[in-house]
Amino acid sequence: MGKKQRHTYRFNPHTLKYEKVFVSLRDRAKRISFNVLFGVVLGVVIVIVALRFMEPPNERLLRRELAKYKQQTARLSDRVDRAEKVLSNIEERDDVLYRTIFESEPVSDAERRSGIGGVERYADLEGYENSKLLISTSRKVDDLTKRLYVESKSLDELYEMARTKNDRLSHLPAIMPMEKNLCKVVSGFGLRYHPILKYRRMHTGIDFTARPGTPIYATGDGVVRVAGRNPQGYSGYGVVVAIDHGFGFTTLYAHMNSATVRAGQKVKRGEQVGTVGSSGLSAGSHLHYEVILNGKHVDPVYYFFNDLTPEEYEEVIELSRQENQSMS
Ligand SMILES: [Zn+2]
Repeated sequence: MGKKQRHTYRFNPHTLKYEKVFVSLRDRAKRISFNVLFGVVLGVVIVIVALRFMEPPNERLLRRELAKYKQQTARLSDRVDRAEKVLSNIEERDDVLYRTIFESEPVSDAERRSGIGGVERYADLEGYENSKLLISTSRKVDDLTKRLYVESKSLDELYEMARTKNDRLSHLPAIMPMEKNLCKVVSGFGLRYHPILKYRRMHTGIDFTARPGTPIYATGDGVVRVAGRNPQGYSGYGVVVAIDHGFGFTTLYAHMNSATVRAGQKVKRGEQVGTVGSSGLSAGSHLHYEVILNGKHVDPVYYFFNDLTPEEYEEVIELSRQENQSMS
């Protein structure tokens, strides 16, 4: 045996024996480098597969957290939707009920929904996997906040109106100026033939006949602005009293026998302001009564709602509608 030869054994199926086989150095080098190469390739493949299909534990944690956030945001969005429904209901009740009771203008839709920002407002939420949900939820919350603010201001107004409602009602000229069984409506508001001037002209009030000396009452709370015989600007009215009730209302009582109040005096509804007479341009003992709203004469018959039954009211309307001759 000269050069030491590396050998290996191989099973021979024909002889059924292990036979010694000699392997050259070159073959051995080939085999080793093949094994090393195979090992490296396998290692790289395993790493790639691992990176592709398995994730580091902290990334898995983050992903789970993200899923939770997403779920939470969706749930939040639902709750905002429910809150929106409740608010819509409150807004509707505000418009339909409360504002009707207090005869005020409903809050406009534009007013309720104004001032919600444009698209740029949500730019920082753009470009994420669940941007759509985040933006729509943010928008809903912004909208809700704005509407809540408008509604709370509206309720403040209503509170103020409710607080002053009694005050306003007591100032309204809401009763007849005399006891209803002591007087009779003879001529109403509209074109009437004037008994002294002898032509048809606008009759700006209602005439009640009553015995001379019958007490005349203030029809609402207020301040006496005019009281006396033929004051400036009231020629032909005889002894006249004018009361400023605030809220745009003034009432006027004319052709009286005497005034029992003076200018500047505060009066309550039902307080006596004078007695029936026939002073000024008058055809007989009566009261000429006017209601002026924001500088315009209005039909006083629409304001007798406090002390008449529906039948009595019907009768007064009927009497005041007849186009006859007025008393003044
Ligand atoms: Zn008259």
